[in-house]
Formats: sequence, structure tokens, C-alpha cells
Amino acid sequence: MKRLAEFCEIEVGTDKGILGRQALLSGVREVDGLISLITDNIDSEVMEAGPGLRVIANVGVGYNNVDIASAQQKGILVTNTPDVLTDATADLTWGLILSASRRIVEADAFVRAGKFDGWDLNMMLGMGLTGKALGIIGYGRIGRAVARRAVGFGMSVIYCTRDDIAFRDDPQHNSLVMSRQAAMRAGSGPLNQSARIDGLSPKRVTLDQLLEWADIVTLHVPLAATTQHLIDSASFNRMKPTAYLINTSRGQIVDEAALVDALKNHKIGGAGLDVYEKEPQITPELLTLNNAVLLPHIGSATRETRIAMALLAVENACDALAGRAPRNQVS
Ligand code: NAD
Repeated sequence: MKRLAEFCEIEVGTDKGILGRQALLSGVREVDGLISLITDNIDSEVMEAGPGLRVIANVGVGYNNVDIASAQQKGILVTNTPDVLTDATADLTWGLILSASRRIVEADAFVRAGKFDGWDLNMMLGMGLTGKALGIIGYGRIGRAVARRAVGFGMSVIYCTRDDIAFRDDPQHNSLVMSRQAAMRAGSGPLNQSARIDGLSPKRVTLDQLLEWADIVTLHVPLAATTQHLIDSASFNRMKPTAYLINTSRGQIVDEAALVDALKNHKIGGAGLDVYEKEPQITPELLTLNNAVLLPHIGSATRETRIAMALLAVENACDALAGRAPRNQVS
């Protein structure tokens, strides 16, 4: 607020929680720039309500809440806040991996309910991580930060990229990825240098291989037309019955009804979720399942990170309004 006030006049939405639609539409009427949150739906109606808008600075790395095509058409710059939230989100992903696989939340509830009456050899058994395969879907900033942490847990890492997702049903693409794997096994193929991490040689696989081989499947792609319901009932049928699904990306990437079915019928071992398909609504049945750990979208919620995100959004807005190229322009 202080930095912004030095630079321009500011008007702050005062609604508690998510800013109401009417407040948003009337608030943008005479402004040059907008700092928005990922819960604000910035569509063409909002952009038309603010004819003077020159920049939309979203506080978050994901910007699926902004209609990018409309912004481009109207010549409005859109910015996001990458990097500063990578470690916080990767840490929380590991929090979910451990909580789900070691039943930490369930065990905490057990103790609070007064049910702990002594150590037992068979009590609350979970899945060990050492030697298991971590499958990362979307190997960008957060995906790689999750991979780096796998070294400490002694896990191997397999991952797939944007192309492996876009061409998941293309046999030619998949056989190319598999022939690269074979070459690597034979010691003659190029290991993607940028994928290499100290103490770890992550292996690129096809999406179907990842679903079949991983003990932990963790999602780190943005929400886009090609990633909506990327994980559906067919994916759960491919996964190991002992595997866990972790989602700290966006809820709509997973078919939540199919996930409930998979958890209820033990098609997978469990899930750790930070995001939901119809957030903040959650499929009621999910709340009754103790093989799911449920968090309220707190991936980047550390004091340090939220301050850094806010400052970055402010700098992006100020740069755009001053006629400089904002550092995190996405369109
Ligand atoms: P990134 O752009 O660095 O990485 C995304 C990866 O997905 C890249 O490898 C990219 O090639 C791939 N990708 C991009 N578009 C794709 C598409 N259409 N189909 C398939 N793959 C695609 O992003 P990041 O900084 O790692 O963040 C990833 C996502 O995590 C964000 O988009 C955001 O939605 C989510 N996120 C959630 C929280 C939270 O609070 N839970 C916090 C931060 C980020």
C-alpha cells in the first residue's frame, strides 16, 4: 500500500473475503491499473467496465482467472508473480506428500479423540517414501523445486512435460520418449541437462508411464484447456492401488467426482489436496474420507511469500503505468 501510494492514487476493495462482483465492476470504472487476486474473475465484462485499464497485475503465478484473449484484444498488459512462491508451494506439496502417506492428519485426530491407548506394532501403518518413485506432472518452477526436495527422501523422480501432456495419445510422440529412455539406459542417450539435479537423475516418461509407475503423482501444470480434467477416472485406473495423488496446482485439473470414487473404492492409496474443482465448495463426500488430506488453498501462504507476491504485483503495476516493460508480463 505504501509503495503504491507513493506512485498513484489507490482504491482498495473493502468487502470481506472475495470482492463482490458489483464492487469490482464499479471499482474499475475510472482506474488505470488493477491489482487482482486469483479469486477475482477478471473477464471481458470487467475490462469493458474499466475503459482506462492499462494493466492487470495478478497476485499469483496462476492467471487462469484473467481472460487473456480479451486483455490482448484490448491492449491491457497482464502480469503474474512467479518464482517468489516456488519454494513455499514446493514445501507445502511435501507437507501433503508426508501427511497423506504417513496418515499424519488422521493420526492427530485419533490422539485428540482419546483413542491412543499405547504403541502398537500394526497401528496407523502408512507408506514409506525411500526408494519409491515420485511422478511430477508439469516440470516447471514448482515441479523442479519438488524434485529437488526428493533427494533428501531418497526417492527417484520421473516427470512429464507440456508436450507429453499435449500429445499423450500420439503413439509417435510416446515412442520417441520411450526410445530416448532406452538410449539413456544404454548410456548413449542425452539426459536432458536442464532436468538434472544434484544427486538425482530425473527421467522423462510418457504421461501413461508416469501414472502407472509413480508411487506419488503430483500435479504442477497450470489450468488450461489441455489440462482441465487431465486426471480422470481412466488415470485412476492406471495408477497403482497404493499410490497417492497430490494436487497443489488447480482443482479443475482433477475430475473431483472420479477422485472421490477412486478414494472410496481404494483404486488409489489416498490423496493430498490444496485445491478443489469448484473452490471454495468441496464435494461433500470428500470430507468424509479419511484417506484424503484437505487444505484450504494455502500453497503460497507463508508471511514471507505473501509479502513478496504483493510487492512484485505492485512493481509490475507501477512499471506498466510508468511505461516500462513489467518484469512478469504474461500477455
Ligand atoms: P511454470 O510455468 O513454471 O510450470 C508449469 C509447467 O507446466 C511447465 O513445465 C510448463 O511447460 C507446463 N505447462 C504449461 N502450460 C501447459 C499446458 N497447457 N499443458 C500442459 N503443461 C503445461 O509454473 P509454476 O510456477 O511451476 O506454477 C505451476 C502452477 O501451480 C501455477 O500455474 C498455479 O496454478 C499453481 N500454483 C498453486 C499454488 C497454490 O497455492 N496451491 C501456488 C503457486 C502455484
